[in-house]
Amino acid sequence: MTSTRTDEIIAVLASGGLDSSILISELLRQGRQIQPLYVRSDLVWERDESQSLRRYLQVVDSPKINDLAVLSLPLEDLYGDHWSTSGEDTPGGDTADEAVFLPGRNALLVVKAAVWCQLNGVGELALAPLGTSPFADATEQFFDHAQAMFNCYPGKPLRIVLPFSGFNKRQVMQRGRDCPLELTFSCISPVEGIHCGRCNKCAERRQAFREVGLDDSTRYAS
Ligand SMILES: [Zn+2]
Repeated sequence: MTSTRTDEIIAVLASGGLDSSILISELLRQGRQIQPLYVRSDLVWERDESQSLRRYLQVVDSPKINDLAVLSLPLEDLYGDHWSTSGEDTPGGDTADEAVFLPGRNALLVVKAAVWCQLNGVGELALAPLGTSPFADATEQFFDHAQAMFNCYPGKPLRIVLPFSGFNKRQVMQRGRDCPLELTFSCISPVEGIHCGRCNKCAERRQAFREVGLDDSTRYAS
């Protein structure tokens, strides 16, 4: 599901993390005009994450990046007393990938992003799930279904693309070698604005830099 069109805006669901930040840089290299979208759900890491995303976009500094659109999608009513909203019992560095599953996460995100695209005349939406994601809502099949659902509405068709769906983390990191990856943010339990160094996502981040032999200049609290 890669794209070759260079004339039209492509929206990118951006989290400020490694994968979606590298995706933005990759689409820029392809000459695309990018509309970054960030969905804020009042999860404990989002203040630091969204600041990192803004900084990444600022440093990449391209006229081909439109101003970040921030969409609000509060989830406390759904998630209740969950580690993502309470910050307690956050999955640690020794837990499996599955430990950080957020119920309905991609379904919720894609609804907000896709409807934004349809209201703003944007015909293409890119997301950065990897082919190695263990989650059912990160697959091509899932997003094909989502695309079909949105295209039940009349008007401009929406295409959902997953440019990294054939890649693993190492392959994506290699594509991002020259990006300012130190400005990305991955932590689900930040300590005073920096990566905690102990959570599931910090462990994944450290491993990602190690796998491709890149210097990890991230500041970790421990
Ligand atoms: Zn962390």
